[in-house]
Amino acid sequence: MAKIIRAQRAKKTSAKSSVKTAPKQPAKKAAAKSAPKPAARKSTKPKPWTAAEVHEAFSRFRNANPEPKGELEHLNPYTLLVAVVLSAQATDAGVNKATRALFAVADTPQKMLALGEEKVRDYIKTVGLYRNKAKNVIALSEKLIAEFGGEVPRTRSQIETLPGAGRKTANVVLNMAFGEHTMAVDTHVFRVGNRTGLAPGNTPLEVELGLEKVIPSEFMLHAHHWLILHGRYTCLARKPRCEVCLINDLCRWPEKTV
Ligand code: SF4
Repeated sequence: MAKIIRAQRAKKTSAKSSVKTAPKQPAKKAAAKSAPKPAARKSTKPKPWTAAEVHEAFSRFRNANPEPKGELEHLNPYTLLVAVVLSAQATDAGVNKATRALFAVADTPQKMLALGEEKVRDYIKTVGLYRNKAKNVIALSEKLIAEFGGEVPRTRSQIETLPGAGRKTANVVLNMAFGEHTMAVDTHVFRVGNRTGLAPGNTPLEVELGLEKVIPSEFMLHAHHWLILHGRYTCLARKPRCEVCLINDLCRWPEKTV
C-alpha cells in the first residue's frame, strides 16, 4: 500500500513540474535564436558627387585640354553623320582610313548616290559590317534628299529616323556639328560614368541622363569628348591608369589603384 501511495505522489510531482517547465525549443530554432545577428548590409552605392566636386573635375579636364576634338575625320555635318554610322563596332582609326578616300569623292548625299552602293562598299570594305553599312549610307543619303532637302536635320528624333542612325549617332552629330549640349554615351563614357560614380546606370540612356543632370552647362559642349578621351587613354577598361588620372582623388571606384 505504502508503495502505491509513493508511486502516486511521484506521478503528481512529475506532472506539476512538466507544466511549469517551458517546452523545449527544437534544436535548430534555439541555435538560430542564440546566433549573433548578421551585420547590417553595407550599401554598395557610391556616395554621389557634390556639385563642387563635379565642377572641380571638369575644370581639370578643361585646363588639361581646353578644346578637345573628336577623332572621327569629317568635312561637314553629312560626312560626320556617315562617319558615325560607319563607326559602330569599329575603331575611329579604321573608319578614318576608309573615309579619307570615300569623302574625297563623295562629301554630299547627292555625290554618294551617284557613286552607288557597290562602289561605297569597295571604299569601306576594311570596316566591320561593311555590306550593311554601305546599304545604310545609300539609304540615309536618299532619305536626306527626299525628306530633308539634302541637309542633316537638327533634331534628335529626325536624325534617329535615318537608316543606321540611333540615339548615340544623333547625339554625336548634334554636339559636334551643331554645338548642342548632348551627351553621346559610347563604351568609354559608359565605363567612366559608372566607375567614377559620376552617373551610375545600367544602360547607356541612364548614364546619359545622369551625366546631363550633374554636369554644369558651361562644360556640356566638350564634356562628351573629355569623357571619351578619359576612358580611351586613362580610365582603360582592363588596366585603368589611376596613378596618372586627373580625377583620382574624386573617383569613387573602390578598385582604383591609388
Ligand atoms: S582613378 Fe582610376 S578608375 Fe577612377 S577615373 Fe581615374 S583611372 Fe578611372
